[in-house]
Amino acid sequence: MGGFVYSQKPISLARGEDVYLYDEEDTQFLDAGASYACTPVGHCHPQVVEAVQQQVSDLLFVQASYPTEAQDSVYEKLDAVAPADVDNVWLCNSGTEANEAALKFARSATGGTKIVAAKKAFHGRTMGALSATWKPKYRKPYEPLLADVEFVDYGDADAIAAAVDDDTAAVILEPVQGEGGVNPGTVEFLQAAREATEDHGAALVFDEVQTGLGRTGTFWACEAAGVTPDILTSAKGLASGLPMGATLCADWIADGAASHGSTFSGGPVVSAAAAATLDVLVEADLPTNAAEVGDYFVEQLAELPVNDVRGKGLMVGVEVGRGANAMLRDLALSHQILALPAGRRVVRFLPPLTFTKSHADAVVDAMADILEEDA
Ligand SMILES: *Cc1c(COP(=O)(O)O)cnc(C)c1O
Repeated sequence: MGGFVYSQKPISLARGEDVYLYDEEDTQFLDAGASYACTPVGHCHPQVVEAVQQQVSDLLFVQASYPTEAQDSVYEKLDAVAPADVDNVWLCNSGTEANEAALKFARSATGGTKIVAAKKAFHGRTMGALSATWKPKYRKPYEPLLADVEFVDYGDADAIAAAVDDDTAAVILEPVQGEGGVNPGTVEFLQAAREATEDHGAALVFDEVQTGLGRTGTFWACEAAGVTPDILTSAKGLASGLPMGATLCADWIADGAASHGSTFSGGPVVSAAAAATLDVLVEADLPTNAAEVGDYFVEQLAELPVNDVRGKGLMVGVEVGRGANAMLRDLALSHQILALPAGRRVVRFLPPLTFTKSHADAVVDAMADILEEDA
């Protein structure tokens, strides 16, 4: 009996505080994965906890068409951090749904049908978002998916230019690929996508579900590249792990969007969590900390006997010679450090953005120990 989709880890977690998690026996774990970037301001940040507790006792839920103070506050705060004029916000419950909406809005606003995505891309697991996701293991058993999707090599500017035509509704890209192995996109590649979409009246969608909210050292990863999309999606840490996604759109997309909705969209409790999370990210200037500590972390990791270290800010991948899963098991069970895989060979770090250099040192020391034992 019980669940069947997830394999269970041999650690049962009971509580969390900032970058630390504690199991039932109160053993402390350094959380360098943040459950896939879902706790950008740290576990149980007091401002977030207080906002949620207050909202739970005031009003647990009301449908999205009744404005609430919490929901208004999320719109306002997302507007304040939105890149340029990409400030029309649709709220939902996950990254998949945010991308699903992005693809639908792009189709209705452009009248086109074709979608261009990148090899190794991950955009989610509903039928539309899955159609733009690359990995055969995720796709194959569920085919046929959307017919009109073309995949190009991530990083190939000429291929993007060649793939986009007058029937293209959207080009969807992660500014740094996450699940695909932590692959940062070059400015040239992202710019080529911007130019091609502009030339053909298609929408440029940046999936910032993993890269957003300060993770890569700027509030959105696209800011560092100087490329503004027509649609930007967010989720993961937006409400500190309560389920919330957001699709941010330029006016021409919002004006062209057809009927769409979701019952739980922008409910008061998740909205209170998101508003508090956005406040902490901005007030504590966590994107700047991510940039500084991330640079230091990458420098230190690069000293280790590994095949490659890459990433941006506190989104870091380390390609290890042996399987990533063996390294992750040793990190967790022998060194009480939790991290994530990104494919078979890449160990991925997406810690809370409150991560410090001494936390980074602890991870690097543990990796060095494990690699030495292997040698
Ligand atoms: C996790 C992720 C998604 C899917 O988000 P869910 O909340 O799991 O639906 C989409 N895109 C990217 C880049 C992601 O990292």
